[in-house]
Amino acid sequence: MIDKILNYQNLPKNELAALKEMIMQSNDARLMFLYLYYVDHEYLEDISTKILKTGNFRYIHFLLRSFKIPNYHSLIDYILSHNNDVQYLFNILYDVDYLDKNYRLQIINKLITLNNDKYLLKAMYYYFIILKLDDKELFNKLQLLCQSKFNISINKDNYKDLLEALVHQEIVEPKYFSPNCYHGHNGYTPHLIVCHITHSYAQAIKRFYDETSQVSSHYIIRKDGHIKQVVSLDDSSWANGTSLNEDSDVYYKFASSSLINKIKNNANYFTFSIEYESFDGSLTKEQISSSIKVIKEIIKYLKDKYNYDFPIDREHILGHTEVNPIVRTKCPGINFPYDEIINHLKN
Ligand SMILES: [Zn+2]
Repeated sequence: MIDKILNYQNLPKNELAALKEMIMQSNDARLMFLYLYYVDHEYLEDISTKILKTGNFRYIHFLLRSFKIPNYHSLIDYILSHNNDVQYLFNILYDVDYLDKNYRLQIINKLITLNNDKYLLKAMYYYFIILKLDDKELFNKLQLLCQSKFNISINKDNYKDLLEALVHQEIVEPKYFSPNCYHGHNGYTPHLIVCHITHSYAQAIKRFYDETSQVSSHYIIRKDGHIKQVVSLDDSSWANGTSLNEDSDVYYKFASSSLINKIKNNANYFTFSIEYESFDGSLTKEQISSSIKVIKEIIKYLKDKYNYDFPIDREHILGHTEVNPIVRTKCPGINFPYDEIINHLKN
């Protein structure tokens, strides 16, 4: 069924019509979403209403962040009244670029009632620092929160630095590599570099060294340019896995990069991953120069070990969203400076 959706251009007209009919009758949120994503956006409003009726929060989220939904208000209203998962609510706030200010405030106010410091601070940081939005009432709530939870007095002059410090806490990093990796590259020559963003360096380090998380990356580059290598280049990190199973949302044929979807195997085997601490893909000067250093290291490694000349271009230096478009629409974010990095590398 999924391969039919992906290859819909080769289907005869009557088969395509039958496929659509079947998907609409199925009430399967995933199939309806994939149909919208790959085949036809024309029925966005109708299909999103049908997906909303399934109550499937996973695909309601995917729907909201992948399309500008005309009736998005009804979806957000449904989430606000039916979902108390702090991470989910933060993701809606973060992923849905076209949300209006009023809805952003409603989501943050709901996060306040749910009382989870980590996601509440991230939400405040995103709202005030990244989106540069303002709201007097919310700022008062932030002041109260910081006073009562952290004993910190926040005002208009210091809030940026204090929020920055609260969200990006320090961590003592391990000196060894993470156990979260495959040994070797399963016979492949790694030939692609995948860029990612992570909101907090400290939280990413914790996750990458936690064996239960099942995630890692070869490198992380903090906002101040500090580089931490988490996985050896001899091994495969777990940053952008793809699956051979069409029931998975990381099915390898979903990849928009042809260099990924032509290889029928897990993309982790043949890619190197670099995480950057950022909310929207914009990098600091220090991160850019550390990035050049790390990529040059990778290029040298590939030449020494595999006699492979890494092509410095946009096809080989790609974003997570080009590997896993269904699950990662905003990694590494629209501001990610691919061209700047590529130009530096070429000079
Ligand atoms: Zn990513």
